[in-house]
Amino acid sequence: MFESLTERLSQAFQRLRAPGRLTPAEVEAGLREIRQALLAADVHYGVVRDLLARVEERSVGEKVVESLAPAEQLLGIVRAEMAAAMGGEATKLRLAGRPAIVLLVGPAGSGKTTTAGKLARHLLRKGRQPFLVCADPQRPAAAEQLATLASRLGIAFARAVEDPVVEVTQAAERARRELRDVLIVDTPGTPPGAAPPPFVADLVAALEPSDVLLVLDALVGQEAVRMGEAFAPLGITGLILTKLDGDARGGAALSLPTRLGEPVLFVGVGEKPEDLEPFDPGRMADRILGFGDLAGLAEVLAEAGGEEVAATAARVREGTFTLEDFLIQFEAMSRAGPLDQLLAKIPGLGKVAPDEEVESELKRSRAIIQSMTVEERRHPHIIGSSRKRRIARGSGTTVQEVNQLLSQYEQARRLVRGLGKQRRPPGGGGRVPVMR
Ligand code: GDP
Ligand code: MG
Repeated sequence: MFESLTERLSQAFQRLRAPGRLTPAEVEAGLREIRQALLAADVHYGVVRDLLARVEERSVGEKVVESLAPAEQLLGIVRAEMAAAMGGEATKLRLAGRPAIVLLVGPAGSGKTTTAGKLARHLLRKGRQPFLVCADPQRPAAAEQLATLASRLGIAFARAVEDPVVEVTQAAERARRELRDVLIVDTPGTPPGAAPPPFVADLVAALEPSDVLLVLDALVGQEAVRMGEAFAPLGITGLILTKLDGDARGGAALSLPTRLGEPVLFVGVGEKPEDLEPFDPGRMADRILGFGDLAGLAEVLAEAGGEEVAATAARVREGTFTLEDFLIQFEAMSRAGPLDQLLAKIPGLGKVAPDEEVESELKRSRAIIQSMTVEERRHPHIIGSSRKRRIARGSGTTVQEVNQLLSQYEQARRLVRGLGKQRRPPGGGGRVPVMR
């Protein structure tokens, strides 16, 4: 997801991270690179223009050029503005009514039926009792596709294929009787740019769904705006962006909330029912900027490692973490499962290629920290050259590798502190250090 955008943005910030202050010309050059990276990622030019104008204004107002950690400060501003462009705070499903009715609409092939199954699974895991309905009078195969999905997931299913308004109303009544609290209604796709069939508007009028979700394919890029506009008369309450696992250049996620004026609620990241993620603008900005997804990582690690790890994650978020906290996280990681999925959530590690290389780097980092005394882990500044030699010997590494780990830690601390100065949306998660 967003590999090339992340790569280019990291390079831009890396160049700005030279020691010392930045001149206004250097900041301007940095902003130009960011602008080009966003445009290359297919972010709409109007969105890029507004985003950069706000970043520029804030970097003047907040005196980035006088800052001692200008790159980190600028990064914090870009992160906050990117999150704002994607809607600011995370938006949740409304799910009002008994049952709550969630209608999925969108162009053909955008992923509605697949998403209906994913959403049902998601809600089931949240303790809800979903009920899937296919409202597609034209294509019997569409109902079959959803019926198969529903039975695989063990979720109640009904067809509404003769007279959708009447049958969906009946399904809602059945759901109420059976104490199923969310009715998820799948609808037929339309050709690109075409309006939905009239019965879909009738469904909205008759059933008053609390959520009308427009499902759009991120691979379509800016074209998705025109497709989406055709659905506006239905009273869209939110977007679901699918196929973000593909080589989408990321532009859609960054542009669509602004251009369609609707928040993204979920993103699809694969074809399987579990490949759905709630969308959080702050976390997405972190990912795009290559900070990984600490909040997501903390959730996975907390499951694997319990309280100790959760406490560690909190210290990372607050910027008060020590090398001891890194060690706890590394160890939880080795218990938590598939390395590649975890790595994707870790800043700076997500985009590096060969698994073995990353794994050996993780092992090395662990060994180095393990060779330190508790005192050294808590107060790394006491580590002078003789201690470094001892640590290198103890961990089977070189002094240079010890230095590298220490400077990563220092850089990470500065980064987190720089970001801490930016106001973050509540629940926006924390950022992890750049570990490379
Ligand atoms: P619909 O016409 O809108 O109902 O679209 P479908 O749900 O039938 O999906 C169309 C195709 O897109 C199918 O092959 C799905 O497996 C695929 N698809 C849907 N969502 C995703 C996603 O998030 N990632 C990937 N890679 N494929 C997806
Ligand atoms: Mg379908």
